Amino acid sequence: MTIQWFPGHMTRARRQIEEKLKLLDLVIELIDARLPLSSRNPMIDDILQGKPRLIVLNKADLADPSVTREWIEYFREEGHAAIQVDASSGQGIKEIPVKAKELMREKIERQIAKGMNPRAIRALIVGIPNVGKSTLINRMAGKNIAATGDRPGVTKAQQWIKIGTELELLDTPGILWPKFEDQNVGYRLAVTGAIREEILNLEDIAFFGVKYLVQYYWEALSERFDLKEQPQDPDNPDEIVAVMEAIGRKRGCIVSGGRVDLEKASGIFLRELRSGKLGRYTLEAPFHLNNPALI
Ligand code: GDP
Repeated sequence: MTIQWFPGHMTRARRQIEEKLKLLDLVIELIDARLPLSSRNPMIDDILQGKPRLIVLNKADLADPSVTREWIEYFREEGHAAIQVDASSGQGIKEIPVKAKELMREKIERQIAKGMNPRAIRALIVGIPNVGKSTLINRMAGKNIAATGDRPGVTKAQQWIKIGTELELLDTPGILWPKFEDQNVGYRLAVTGAIREEILNLEDIAFFGVKYLVQYYWEALSERFDLKEQPQDPDNPDEIVAVMEAIGRKRGCIVSGGRVDLEKASGIFLRELRSGKLGRYTLEAPFHLNNPALI
């Protein structure tokens, strides 16, 4: 699903989540383990108004495991509870109720001390489109519940889904927008296929991906496409284009005169990357934050 975000949609999306906050004990912020910052909403702290939050890095099956561990450490140092899951297989999702309970422990203990019977923790999953919100709800519920999330501006009766005895999830996730203003955020999202390619130029998206792989995953890239020479200066666009051409030649993307069809090569590269043929990768790492040139 692709949403065209206009200021009115953003305001409505935000309001929908804010209206639900009073019903909730906890918010599950779902982000993509391959791009944990770029797949976040830029105003998330403001929107959640201090509501207890569990950060869940989804699609961990596609991400570089060592970088995912670094990100979890990063979020924990920022004071957030964070875990990794793979919503499509269900790997790690049992941790969600466990962590939710940990986060709510003080409140639960207070209720018990007052002689109250603590009710189930009520939570909402929020995240940008395509991050896996519906997949996660369905996995946790053990059946098909969340076909799609809220369309901004469209409301429907919502229901609580029981996850075991101690957690209840709203059946409709909250959809948030990514940080569009930052072009690199757009490229990272596009490389993973999270936003439609028409928004950005296909060759530019592939260029961004190839450059990143040249810098951080050269072995996987060179092996897959039989590349011989690693670019000496990845900041030199000519060297990256030369790699794209080599990929195109390897895949037979040749047009008249022996030129490489870069558009076709770009499409093939992105398809192979997204379908996991180049192995697991993460497009941003915490250590990049110390180097503004990399963000
Ligand atoms: P939503 O827009 O946030 O509700 O996202 P969806 O649940 O519709 O998921 C978007 C796409 O990501 C679908 O093709 C899912 O199959 C896929 N997906 C979701 N979670 C995972 C995951 O953990 N691993 C992988 N490999 N794919 C996932």
